[in-house]
Amino acid sequence: MNSYEIKCVVEEISNLHFLRDKNIVPTSVNISLKTQRKALFKQNKLPYISHLPIMNCTNEIQLCNDMNDQMNELISQNKDFDYLNWRNSCLLPTINTVLDIPIYLTEKTSIFNDDKFGKIYTSNNIIQELEVFFLEIKYPLLYSMERFQFYDSFDMRSYCVELPCSKSSVILLSNADTNIERFIYAAHEIGHALFNSMKYDKRVIVPIEIDEIAAHLLELFIVRLILKEDNILDYYKLDLKKRLVNNLVYTKFQMELYKNPQMVKSNREKDILLKKIAKLYHINNVDKQCWSQIPNLLDFPFYSGAYIFPQVISLSILKEDTRDVQKIFLSIINFLDILTKKKDNRNLTGIFEDFFDTTF
Ligand SMILES: [Zn+2]
Repeated sequence: MNSYEIKCVVEEISNLHFLRDKNIVPTSVNISLKTQRKALFKQNKLPYISHLPIMNCTNEIQLCNDMNDQMNELISQNKDFDYLNWRNSCLLPTINTVLDIPIYLTEKTSIFNDDKFGKIYTSNNIIQELEVFFLEIKYPLLYSMERFQFYDSFDMRSYCVELPCSKSSVILLSNADTNIERFIYAAHEIGHALFNSMKYDKRVIVPIEIDEIAAHLLELFIVRLILKEDNILDYYKLDLKKRLVNNLVYTKFQMELYKNPQMVKSNREKDILLKKIAKLYHINNVDKQCWSQIPNLLDFPFYSGAYIFPQVISLSILKEDTRDVQKIFLSIINFLDILTKKKDNRNLTGIFEDFFDTTF
Protein backbone atom coordinates (compact mmCIF):
# COMPACT_ATOMS: atom_id res chain seq x y z
CA MET A 1 0.00 0.00 0.00
CA ASN A 2 1.61 3.26 -1.09
CA SER A 3 1.20 6.69 0.50
CA TYR A 4 -1.52 7.74 -1.97
CA GLU A 5 -3.59 4.68 -1.08
CA ILE A 6 -3.12 5.27 2.64
CA LYS A 7 -4.24 8.89 2.31
CA CYS A 8 -7.31 7.75 0.34
CA VAL A 9 -8.34 5.26 2.99
CA VAL A 10 -7.89 7.76 5.82
CA GLU A 11 -9.83 10.42 3.91
CA GLU A 12 -12.63 8.03 3.03
CA ILE A 13 -13.06 6.63 6.54
CA SER A 14 -13.12 10.12 7.98
CA ASN A 15 -15.68 11.28 5.41
CA LEU A 16 -17.86 8.20 5.94
CA HIS A 17 -17.92 8.98 9.67
CA PHE A 18 -18.94 12.53 8.87
CA LEU A 19 -21.81 11.29 6.67
CA ARG A 20 -22.94 8.63 9.11
CA ASP A 21 -23.11 11.22 11.89
CA LYS A 22 -25.70 12.91 9.69
CA ASN A 23 -27.55 9.63 9.03
CA ILE A 24 -26.34 9.41 5.45
CA VAL A 25 -25.15 6.01 4.31
CA PRO A 26 -23.92 6.23 0.73
CA THR A 27 -24.43 3.26 -1.55
CA SER A 28 -21.58 1.82 -3.64
CA VAL A 29 -18.97 2.30 -0.98
CA ASN A 30 -16.02 0.20 -1.85
CA ILE A 31 -13.60 -0.05 1.00
CA SER A 32 -12.99 -3.35 2.72
CA LEU A 33 -12.28 -3.74 6.41
CA LYS A 34 -9.02 -5.43 5.50
CA THR A 35 -7.91 -2.38 3.49
CA GLN A 36 -8.92 -0.06 6.32
CA ARG A 37 -6.95 -2.05 8.89
CA LYS A 38 -3.91 -2.23 6.63
CA ALA A 39 -3.92 1.53 5.99
CA LEU A 40 -4.44 2.41 9.63
CA PHE A 41 -1.72 0.02 10.71
CA LYS A 42 0.69 1.69 8.28
CA GLN A 43 -0.45 5.15 9.17
CA ASN A 44 -0.47 4.48 12.89
CA LYS A 45 -3.06 7.10 13.58
CA LEU A 46 -6.69 7.20 14.70
CA PRO A 47 -9.02 7.30 11.70
CA TYR A 48 -11.66 9.59 13.05
CA ILE A 49 -10.97 13.24 12.37
CA SER A 50 -13.96 15.37 13.21
CA HIS A 51 -14.92 17.76 10.43
CA LEU A 52 -17.14 19.96 12.52
CA PRO A 53 -16.74 21.04 16.13
CA ILE A 54 -18.98 18.97 18.35
CA MET A 55 -21.08 21.31 20.43
CA ASN A 56 -23.87 19.82 22.49
CA CYS A 57 -24.87 23.08 24.04
CA THR A 58 -28.35 24.40 23.30
CA ASN A 59 -27.97 27.66 25.19
CA GLU A 60 -26.81 30.22 22.66
CA ILE A 61 -24.99 32.57 25.04
CA GLN A 62 -23.19 29.66 26.64
CA LEU A 63 -22.32 28.37 23.17
CA CYS A 64 -20.83 31.74 22.18
CA ASN A 65 -18.84 31.94 25.40
CA ASP A 66 -17.50 28.41 24.95
CA MET A 67 -16.55 29.24 21.39
CA ASN A 68 -14.86 32.43 22.51
CA ASP A 69 -12.78 30.51 25.06
CA GLN A 70 -11.80 27.94 22.44
CA MET A 71 -10.93 30.67 19.93
CA ASN A 72 -8.76 32.54 22.47
CA GLU A 73 -7.04 29.27 23.31
CA LEU A 74 -6.37 28.54 19.64
CA ILE A 75 -4.95 32.03 19.11
CA SER A 76 -2.70 31.81 22.17
CA GLN A 77 -1.35 28.49 20.87
CA ASN A 78 -0.50 30.17 17.55
CA LYS A 79 0.74 33.55 18.69
CA ASP A 80 1.77 35.96 15.93
CA PHE A 81 0.57 33.63 13.20
CA ASP A 82 0.78 35.56 9.95
CA TYR A 83 -1.51 34.12 7.28
CA LEU A 84 0.13 35.87 4.32
CA ASN A 85 3.60 34.67 5.38
CA TRP A 86 2.19 31.20 5.85
CA ARG A 87 0.81 31.25 2.29
CA ASN A 88 4.24 32.28 1.05
CA SER A 89 5.94 29.45 2.90
CA CYS A 90 3.40 26.96 1.45
CA LEU A 91 4.08 28.39 -2.04
CA LEU A 92 0.44 29.40 -2.41
CA PRO A 93 -0.34 32.30 -4.73
CA THR A 94 -0.20 35.76 -3.25
CA ILE A 95 -3.60 37.16 -2.44
CA ASN A 96 -4.41 40.79 -2.15
CA THR A 97 -6.58 41.36 0.90
CA VAL A 98 -6.91 45.05 0.13
CA LEU A 99 -8.58 44.40 -3.21
CA ASP A 100 -10.72 47.29 -4.20
CA ILE A 101 -14.10 45.72 -4.69
CA PRO A 102 -16.61 48.24 -6.01
CA ILE A 103 -19.65 48.87 -3.89
CA TYR A 104 -22.13 46.29 -5.03
CA LEU A 105 -24.59 45.68 -2.28
CA THR A 106 -27.68 47.12 -3.83
CA GLU A 107 -30.72 45.02 -3.10
CA LYS A 108 -30.59 41.75 -4.98
CA THR A 109 -34.19 42.06 -6.13
CA SER A 110 -33.57 45.32 -7.96
CA ILE A 111 -31.12 43.56 -10.23
CA PHE A 112 -32.61 40.15 -10.46
CA ASN A 113 -36.01 38.91 -9.58
CA ASP A 114 -35.99 35.26 -8.62
CA ASP A 115 -39.49 34.82 -10.09
CA LYS A 116 -38.00 35.39 -13.53
CA PHE A 117 -35.79 32.40 -12.98
CA GLY A 118 -38.69 30.42 -14.41
CA LYS A 119 -37.42 26.89 -14.35
CA ILE A 120 -36.32 25.31 -11.12
CA TYR A 121 -33.28 23.26 -11.91
CA THR A 122 -32.80 20.07 -9.95
CA SER A 123 -29.45 18.38 -9.75
CA ASN A 124 -30.84 15.82 -12.22
CA ASN A 125 -31.55 18.56 -14.79
CA ILE A 126 -27.98 19.83 -14.46
CA ILE A 127 -26.51 16.36 -14.88
CA GLN A 128 -28.69 15.71 -17.95
CA GLU A 129 -27.57 18.96 -19.58
CA LEU A 130 -23.95 18.12 -18.84
CA GLU A 131 -24.32 14.69 -20.37
CA VAL A 132 -25.83 16.14 -23.54
CA PHE A 133 -22.95 18.63 -23.74
CA PHE A 134 -20.29 15.94 -23.27
CA LEU A 135 -21.93 13.84 -25.98
CA GLU A 136 -22.13 16.79 -28.36
CA ILE A 137 -18.47 17.68 -28.07
CA LYS A 138 -17.64 13.97 -28.20
CA TYR A 139 -15.78 14.36 -25.00
CA PRO A 140 -15.07 10.95 -23.54
CA LEU A 141 -17.12 10.55 -20.39
CA LEU A 142 -14.03 10.09 -18.32
CA TYR A 143 -15.67 11.77 -15.42
CA SER A 144 -18.40 9.26 -14.95
CA MET A 145 -21.41 10.84 -13.36
CA GLU A 146 -22.88 7.54 -12.24
CA ARG A 147 -20.48 7.95 -9.38
CA PHE A 148 -22.33 10.99 -8.04
CA GLN A 149 -24.86 10.52 -5.25
CA PHE A 150 -27.20 13.32 -4.21
CA TYR A 151 -28.77 13.90 -0.80
CA ASP A 152 -30.51 16.81 0.93
CA SER A 153 -28.22 18.74 3.18
CA PHE A 154 -28.74 18.52 6.95
CA ASP A 155 -28.05 22.24 7.43
CA MET A 156 -28.09 25.48 5.44
CA ARG A 157 -24.93 24.64 3.52
CA SER A 158 -24.09 22.47 0.53
CA TYR A 159 -21.21 20.02 0.51
CA CYS A 160 -19.36 17.63 -1.74
CA VAL A 161 -17.81 14.76 0.18
CA GLU A 162 -15.09 12.80 -1.60
CA LEU A 163 -14.77 9.05 -1.26
CA PRO A 164 -11.50 8.31 -3.10
CA CYS A 165 -11.40 4.53 -2.46
CA SER A 166 -14.92 4.10 -3.82
CA LYS A 167 -14.11 6.64 -6.55
CA SER A 168 -17.38 8.42 -5.85
CA SER A 169 -18.66 11.75 -4.53
CA VAL A 170 -21.58 12.41 -2.23
CA ILE A 171 -23.25 15.76 -2.88
CA LEU A 172 -25.41 17.31 -0.16
CA LEU A 173 -27.56 20.17 -1.38
CA SER A 174 -29.18 22.80 0.79
CA ASN A 175 -32.75 23.87 0.14
CA ALA A 176 -32.41 27.10 2.03
CA ASP A 177 -31.68 29.58 -0.72
CA THR A 178 -33.54 31.11 -3.64
CA ASN A 179 -33.87 29.12 -6.88
CA ILE A 180 -30.95 30.83 -8.55
CA GLU A 181 -28.73 30.41 -5.50
CA ARG A 182 -29.65 26.76 -5.29
CA PHE A 183 -28.65 26.38 -8.92
CA ILE A 184 -25.27 28.10 -8.43
CA TYR A 185 -24.40 26.08 -5.32
CA ALA A 186 -25.44 22.83 -7.02
CA ALA A 187 -23.18 23.78 -9.96
CA HIS A 188 -20.32 24.38 -7.50
CA GLU A 189 -20.68 21.01 -5.76
CA ILE A 190 -21.07 19.18 -9.09
CA GLY A 191 -17.87 21.00 -10.12
CA HIS A 192 -16.13 19.47 -7.10
CA ALA A 193 -17.48 16.03 -7.98
CA LEU A 194 -16.28 16.28 -11.62
CA PHE A 195 -12.83 17.30 -10.41
CA ASN A 196 -12.84 14.50 -7.80
CA SER A 197 -13.34 11.98 -10.61
CA MET A 198 -10.43 13.55 -12.48
CA LYS A 199 -8.25 13.21 -9.35
CA TYR A 200 -9.29 9.57 -8.84
CA ASP A 201 -8.25 8.79 -12.43
CA LYS A 202 -4.91 10.49 -11.97
CA ARG A 203 -4.43 9.13 -8.44
CA VAL A 204 -3.62 12.50 -6.92
CA ILE A 205 -4.60 14.38 -3.80
CA VAL A 206 -4.35 18.17 -4.03
CA PRO A 207 -4.41 21.09 -1.58
CA ILE A 208 -7.83 22.59 -0.85
CA GLU A 209 -6.99 25.70 -2.85
CA ILE A 210 -6.57 23.65 -6.04
CA ASP A 211 -9.85 21.89 -5.28
CA GLU A 212 -11.51 25.27 -4.99
CA ILE A 213 -9.98 26.62 -8.21
CA ALA A 214 -11.36 23.56 -10.00
CA ALA A 215 -14.82 23.80 -8.40
CA HIS A 216 -15.12 27.52 -9.16
CA LEU A 217 -14.03 27.14 -12.80
CA LEU A 218 -16.37 24.21 -13.41
CA GLU A 219 -19.17 26.08 -11.61
CA LEU A 220 -18.60 29.01 -13.99
CA PHE A 221 -18.69 26.66 -16.97
CA ILE A 222 -21.95 25.02 -15.80
CA VAL A 223 -23.58 28.42 -15.18
CA ARG A 224 -22.55 29.56 -18.67
CA LEU A 225 -23.71 26.31 -20.25
CA ILE A 226 -27.19 26.33 -18.75
CA LEU A 227 -28.11 29.93 -17.89
CA LYS A 228 -27.52 31.97 -20.99
CA GLU A 229 -29.41 35.22 -20.31
CA ASP A 230 -27.34 38.34 -19.68
CA ASN A 231 -29.28 39.44 -16.61
CA ILE A 232 -28.63 36.07 -14.99
CA LEU A 233 -24.95 36.43 -15.75
CA ASP A 234 -24.99 39.84 -14.04
CA TYR A 235 -26.60 38.26 -11.03
CA TYR A 236 -23.97 35.52 -11.04
CA LYS A 237 -21.12 38.06 -11.06
CA LEU A 238 -22.78 39.85 -8.19
CA ASP A 239 -23.18 36.66 -6.20
CA LEU A 240 -19.54 35.77 -6.78
CA LYS A 241 -18.39 39.24 -5.69
CA LYS A 242 -20.50 38.92 -2.59
CA ARG A 243 -18.92 35.58 -1.74
CA LEU A 244 -15.45 37.03 -2.39
CA VAL A 245 -16.01 40.05 -0.15
CA ASN A 246 -17.31 37.81 2.63
CA ASN A 247 -14.23 35.64 2.37
CA LEU A 248 -11.95 38.68 2.35
CA VAL A 249 -13.65 40.02 5.48
CA TYR A 250 -13.50 36.68 7.31
CA THR A 251 -9.84 36.23 6.39
CA LYS A 252 -8.87 39.76 7.35
CA PHE A 253 -10.83 39.31 10.60
CA GLN A 254 -8.81 36.24 11.52
CA MET A 255 -5.55 37.94 10.56
CA GLU A 256 -6.36 40.75 12.98
CA LEU A 257 -7.32 38.32 15.76
CA TYR A 258 -3.96 36.60 15.60
CA LYS A 259 -2.14 39.91 15.34
CA ASN A 260 -3.70 41.65 18.34
CA PRO A 261 -5.28 39.02 20.59
CA GLN A 262 -5.24 41.29 23.64
CA MET A 263 -7.47 43.83 21.95
CA VAL A 264 -10.21 41.36 21.06
CA LYS A 265 -10.59 38.99 23.97
CA SER A 266 -14.34 39.19 24.49
CA ASN A 267 -17.22 38.21 22.24
CA ARG A 268 -18.29 41.83 21.92
CA GLU A 269 -14.84 43.04 20.93
CA LYS A 270 -14.67 40.37 18.26
CA ASP A 271 -18.09 41.34 16.86
CA ILE A 272 -17.07 45.01 16.77
CA LEU A 273 -13.89 44.10 14.91
CA LEU A 274 -15.92 42.10 12.37
CA LYS A 275 -18.18 45.09 11.69
CA LYS A 276 -15.19 47.43 11.44
CA ILE A 277 -13.53 45.23 8.82
CA ALA A 278 -16.79 44.93 6.83
CA LYS A 279 -16.83 48.75 6.67
CA LEU A 280 -13.28 48.73 5.27
CA TYR A 281 -14.70 46.79 2.34
CA HIS A 282 -17.47 49.36 1.93
CA ILE A 283 -20.19 47.10 3.21
CA ASN A 284 -22.36 47.42 6.28
CA ASN A 285 -23.19 43.79 6.68
CA VAL A 286 -21.38 40.59 5.90
CA ASP A 287 -23.32 37.33 5.71
CA LYS A 288 -22.59 36.60 9.35
CA GLN A 289 -23.41 39.28 11.88
CA CYS A 290 -21.66 37.56 14.81
CA TRP A 291 -18.12 36.36 14.52
CA SER A 292 -19.16 33.05 16.11
CA GLN A 293 -21.36 32.26 13.08
CA ILE A 294 -18.46 32.33 10.65
CA PRO A 295 -17.93 28.70 9.68
CA ASN A 296 -14.71 26.81 10.28
CA LEU A 297 -12.89 29.34 12.49
CA LEU A 298 -12.06 26.64 15.02
CA ASP A 299 -11.75 23.43 13.03
CA PHE A 300 -10.24 24.83 9.81
CA PRO A 301 -8.72 28.24 10.61
CA PHE A 302 -8.40 30.51 7.55
CA TYR A 303 -10.62 28.24 5.47
CA SER A 304 -12.14 31.38 3.92
CA GLY A 305 -8.67 32.35 2.68
CA ALA A 306 -8.61 29.35 0.33
CA TYR A 307 -11.55 30.80 -1.63
CA ILE A 308 -10.03 34.19 -2.39
CA PHE A 309 -7.66 33.29 -5.22
CA PRO A 310 -10.21 30.98 -6.94
CA GLN A 311 -12.93 33.65 -6.79
CA VAL A 312 -10.62 36.36 -8.10
CA ILE A 313 -9.79 33.99 -10.99
CA SER A 314 -13.48 33.43 -11.77
CA LEU A 315 -14.25 37.14 -11.68
CA SER A 316 -11.38 37.95 -14.03
CA ILE A 317 -12.69 35.34 -16.49
CA LEU A 318 -16.20 36.80 -16.27
CA LYS A 319 -14.88 40.12 -17.55
CA GLU A 320 -14.24 38.34 -20.86
CA ASP A 321 -16.61 36.93 -23.43
CA THR A 322 -17.58 33.49 -22.08
CA ARG A 323 -20.24 32.54 -24.62
CA ASP A 324 -18.18 29.82 -26.28
CA VAL A 325 -18.74 27.21 -23.55
CA GLN A 326 -17.01 24.46 -25.48
CA LYS A 327 -13.80 26.47 -25.72
CA ILE A 328 -14.06 27.48 -22.05
CA PHE A 329 -14.64 23.88 -20.96
CA LEU A 330 -11.71 22.44 -22.93
CA SER A 331 -9.38 25.18 -21.66
CA ILE A 332 -10.48 24.55 -18.07
CA ILE A 333 -9.88 20.81 -18.40
CA ASN A 334 -6.46 21.46 -19.91
CA PHE A 335 -5.63 23.90 -17.11
CA LEU A 336 -6.76 21.44 -14.40
CA ASP A 337 -4.76 18.73 -16.09
CA ILE A 338 -1.62 20.86 -15.68
CA LEU A 339 -2.49 21.73 -12.06
CA THR A 340 -2.89 18.09 -11.04
CA LYS A 341 0.51 17.20 -12.51
CA LYS A 342 2.32 19.77 -10.42
CA LYS A 343 4.28 18.67 -7.41
CA ASP A 344 3.90 22.01 -5.61
CA ASN A 345 1.94 25.23 -5.89
CA ARG A 346 4.83 27.28 -7.22
CA ASN A 347 3.85 29.75 -9.88
CA LEU A 348 0.16 28.98 -9.82
CA THR A 349 -0.45 32.58 -10.83
CA GLY A 350 1.81 32.17 -13.88
CA ILE A 351 0.02 28.98 -14.97
CA PHE A 352 -3.29 30.76 -14.62
CA GLU A 353 -2.04 33.69 -16.71
CA ASP A 354 -1.00 31.25 -19.48
CA PHE A 355 -4.43 29.62 -19.37
CA PHE A 356 -6.08 33.03 -19.50
CA ASP A 357 -3.98 34.27 -22.43
CA THR A 358 -4.55 31.15 -24.50
CA THR A 359 -8.31 31.09 -23.79
CA PHE A 360 -9.18 34.75 -24.51
ZN1 LIG B 1 -15.99 24.43 -2.79
